[in-house]
Amino acid sequence: MNMTIPADLGYDALICRYSEIATKGRNRSAFESRLIEALRRALRGVGRIEVIRERGRVFIRPGGGATVFTPEAVAEMRRVLPFVSGLSSASPGFLSPPALEHLEAMVDRTFPRVYEAFAAGLRGEQRLPYATLVRRSDKSYPMISSEIERLFAERLLARYPRLEVNLNQPRLALALEIRKDHAFLCYERIDGPGGLPAGTGGALLALLSGGIDSPVACYQMMRRGCLIDYVTFHSEPYTPPELILKVARLATHLNRFQMGGRLAAVNLLPAQLAIRDTCDSRLRTVLYRRFMMRLATVVARCFGSKALLTGDNLGQVASQTLDNLGIIASATPMLQLRPLLAAEKNETMALARRIGTLDISEEDVPDSCTVFAPSDPTTAAKAYRVEVEESRLDLRGLILACLEATVQVDLATLERRPLRGVDEAAAVVLPRLGVPGAAPAAAERPE
Ligand code: ATP
Ligand code: MG
Repeated sequence: MNMTIPADLGYDALICRYSEIATKGRNRSAFESRLIEALRRALRGVGRIEVIRERGRVFIRPGGGATVFTPEAVAEMRRVLPFVSGLSSASPGFLSPPALEHLEAMVDRTFPRVYEAFAAGLRGEQRLPYATLVRRSDKSYPMISSEIERLFAERLLARYPRLEVNLNQPRLALALEIRKDHAFLCYERIDGPGGLPAGTGGALLALLSGGIDSPVACYQMMRRGCLIDYVTFHSEPYTPPELILKVARLATHLNRFQMGGRLAAVNLLPAQLAIRDTCDSRLRTVLYRRFMMRLATVVARCFGSKALLTGDNLGQVASQTLDNLGIIASATPMLQLRPLLAAEKNETMALARRIGTLDISEEDVPDSCTVFAPSDPTTAAKAYRVEVEESRLDLRGLILACLEATVQVDLATLERRPLRGVDEAAAVVLPRLGVPGAAPAAAERPE
């Protein structure tokens, strides 16, 4: 995106490009529909719009009788489009009939202002690297792309001597796309995240802490088209209410990239107290995390999620060694996704900054694990040792105690209300978790 391009050029269209989804064969139409839904959602702040779907492209025009986008609308596009999953790039620009005289008129009308904006930054004898890029999808057009490129280059170089053709690294690029019924001209490209549109990848439940990694993991999977609900674990009253508010802010921020994901908050305290008082301190972290996995499986059942998602990163902390991850993972039969497992911390930080979660994550609020963390966690828990420790606990009773105070946090009002369907979900899930003492699912129902 180049912010030096004026927003008040009187753009009359926005072209939206996508690549990966275009290759999806028979599903293509469904993918395009999801992308259009996502674009409509993202562009709510732009005002009324009209969406035109064409082969391989989506065009958006001003709606409600307007003929051009306001500068505010263009600024809003630049702000929101980089986060529309499935979009590879977009450009505000101009539509005209495809005949050459119309192309020339369109360039003559718009180029001077764009040139002026770029030339204002030139010093002394400095030249302005420039390129004309033509794409012609109408192969019956009377001129081929390179002829049109040359024509405009000659036309502009004659009028603007400081332009210098540079096809590899132009600072100013005039891009023309010639289609059967019209041509589109633009000078600006807003990069999207690529990937797949929201809603094409299935539903996940993210274990969202107040940390840096889990929000980034959410974003990564949203980019693969997944819709994400969230669960967070706290230890009130040992952790402050601000912890849930912080996670709610993260969830609200992440929801900008999808449709309204829900947030459940589970109080892990009953399990943490029992583990702290009964179990080998070196295994505490692993035991807490196994509880989280079981509890998340119940919440996933309530929300209808197909898999769990965490921000685990191999080797980052004691619970994230291969041994410990394996033991934590085996607490639930549910599929678990760990998109950051192989990520570099600085890349994750950079992405967190780019998507806007880093500032929230870095707010200093004590979290569940820091309050109850042991000073000597093991990096290589053994399955049999974990079994011995867990056999001393009333797993079933502790899980039900944690679930009892489980709430859904309304992200608009921040009100907490009991999570619907938790008892039914626990009745189905506990036997599947192999929790001792869990009665068969049918017997749990008060018929
Ligand atoms: P993060 O920055 O996401 O907290 P981390 O590097 O601090 O990750 P851990 O604290 O070990 O690593 O947590 C690993 C993952 O476990 C987290 O990314 C998150 O998915 C999940 N998790 C940990 N603590 C919580 C919690 N209190 N609530 C919800 N999920 C949690
Ligand atoms: Mg953490």
